[in-house]
Amino acid sequence: MEIVQIRNFSLVSHQGAGKTSLAESMLFASGATERMGKVDNGTTVSDYDPIEIDRTMSINLSLLPHEWKGTKLNLIDTPGYADFISEVKASLRVSEGAIVVVCAASGVEVGTEQTWNDLEKMNLPRLIFVNKVDRDNADFFRALEEIQLSLSPRCLPLQLPIGSQSDFQGIVDLLAMKAYIGTASQEAELPSTLQEQTKNAREKLIEAAVEIDDDLIGKYLEGAAISTEEIVTAVKKSTIAGKLIPVFVGSALGSIGIRQLLDGICQYLPSPEESGVVTATKATKDNQEEVKVNAESPFSSFVFKTSADPYVGKLSYFRVYSGSISSNSQIWNANKNNVERIGQIFTLLGKTQQTVPQLAAGDIGVLARLDSTTTGDTLCTREHPLIFPGIEFPPANFSLSIQPQTKADLDKMSIALPRVCEEDPAIRVHREPDTNEFIVSGIGDSHLEILKEKMRRKFGVEVILKPPKIPYKETITAPTRAEYKHKKQSGGHGQYGHVRIELEPLPKGGGFEFASKIVGGAIPQNYVPSVEKGISEAKQEGVLAGYPLADIKVTLYDGSFHPVDSSDIAFKIAGAQALKKGLAQAQPVLIEPIMKLTITVPDTYIGDITSDLNTKRGRVLGMTPDGDYNIIEVQAPYAELLRYAIDLRSMTQGRGSFVMEFSHYEEVPPHVTQKVINEQKKDG
Ligand code: GDP
Repeated sequence: MEIVQIRNFSLVSHQGAGKTSLAESMLFASGATERMGKVDNGTTVSDYDPIEIDRTMSINLSLLPHEWKGTKLNLIDTPGYADFISEVKASLRVSEGAIVVVCAASGVEVGTEQTWNDLEKMNLPRLIFVNKVDRDNADFFRALEEIQLSLSPRCLPLQLPIGSQSDFQGIVDLLAMKAYIGTASQEAELPSTLQEQTKNAREKLIEAAVEIDDDLIGKYLEGAAISTEEIVTAVKKSTIAGKLIPVFVGSALGSIGIRQLLDGICQYLPSPEESGVVTATKATKDNQEEVKVNAESPFSSFVFKTSADPYVGKLSYFRVYSGSISSNSQIWNANKNNVERIGQIFTLLGKTQQTVPQLAAGDIGVLARLDSTTTGDTLCTREHPLIFPGIEFPPANFSLSIQPQTKADLDKMSIALPRVCEEDPAIRVHREPDTNEFIVSGIGDSHLEILKEKMRRKFGVEVILKPPKIPYKETITAPTRAEYKHKKQSGGHGQYGHVRIELEPLPKGGGFEFASKIVGGAIPQNYVPSVEKGISEAKQEGVLAGYPLADIKVTLYDGSFHPVDSSDIAFKIAGAQALKKGLAQAQPVLIEPIMKLTITVPDTYIGDITSDLNTKRGRVLGMTPDGDYNIIEVQAPYAELLRYAIDLRSMTQGRGSFVMEFSHYEEVPPHVTQKVINEQKKDG
């Protein structure tokens, strides 16, 4: 297929604006499906995953290619819920355009605002579709006002609705100056009641569009006639340049305005070729190459999603940037430096696979069962290796410990977890050495709940998710000396080991040290390692709440032995017991990990954020204004931050973000210490 005949674009918005319904309606209007499914009864092409059907919401991006008047539309439906934002990032990465869906009743919601900011940064051409004009409380003009205020004044209607709510009948196209009525999109004359409004809106649109072209501005100012074709071209150029965002209107459920939106996508969004060059790094040398999207250049493509299915196997979604690829061939993975053999090439319509013999520049397809390829890899030719920049995923700030429910689940978990994680690069897994727990981190609680559900449904593994244990440690605050004599006389052979040790606090982060000052044979040198071993084992459990010891130096300085009864084991016991005794005398305290947070929030939330941080024992280190935002640097105990990803989201309606990193250990205040000790005893 010629590149000019492709449009790759994503549907984006806050959850519930109607993306999935719109996708369904577009598929139906174009004839790709024979009947229109509904989100509410779980019959859409896009949300086919049982988890999506259960929750009536998208959690995965869906590839929904279809054809409209000879143009291939690679439509990608994305989830709107914040926890699944990485799917949005992945689909925007391979799109030349976006349709921002706004509900005519709810207006611009925060998720839409946030994705809008991303679109602005990417300079991605976009259209807006004001949906649900048929709904109770719908008001197109109120929604438009909100769009212009909170998204951009560059958003101008290309259409107006005829009627509203239960009386919503159709749309008026401001360029064609025609009305289109009902599901069948019956062409009609402009309603007389809308004449004035239409004229004004058209005037505004033309005024904005001609700005892209000096000749047109001249004509416009002179009052000369400008043809519809000239305006269409100007609207397209302005849309691609980001100077204009045409606003469409309709009802996804009622199938109104859908055909005009499909026309608009073909008319105003750029083809892959029109969207210009893509920069890659040459894999052999460390310099850049501009890749022109065309079929003649060597093959290059980018893997933007991986899905794991126990039946279908692994699927890699890829977007071809240059050249073409045929089934049953070989390609080069430049990130992994190896050859991938490919069998069939597919396109997907939701879950339905269709094989294609070839896929050319600009197009999107799917490869099955690639060996080593993961999301973010570049597939190209060995002779011309390239690496496209990867996808930036949001930080995984919400962590839970993951445990198998039964022993049988343990083995299965170790196989299933990496596969589920491969599907979702925004999830991180690591083992926390201090607490010996497996920790999964994601964007929010739903994100990890879905991970748990995927493990169960796809791989039959039951896991438990729990708040992670805090890696508390115990240390001492005063130096002391302790002595222990392990002496037993039972029958013939006795046991004898006697040590004197000194305990000193070390500075923060000093770890645990052991030294021996034994000279002159108070204890034979061969028993010193036994004392150290006893101490080293005993240091795993402090005397306050059984947490490991840190920042302590123990010096063995004296003791005694028995020529017959002394043994390694006796000195080991003596070392361990002496340490325990010493700890109790050395004013032991709990220490806890303190994290450094860098929080970015709009100015209006600063008060709420800082007073909440006070309740979390946080210390604000500084604040730096950054446009309408403020960057707050804070230190706070990890124990108070386990749900911070969720707290910050609810305090700022999702507008705040943060980065968290370990800073240091600090003493736990006495009133908290008692709580931790009590908890530990309870779990004990
Ligand atoms: P998404 O989360 O953006 O994909 O939104 P959905 O497509 O899942 O739709 C959310 C809800 O809005 C569902 O209950 C839909 O039936 C409903 N909905 C979607 N489009 C329309 C529309 O045009 N009119 C009305 N009245 N409801 C709609």
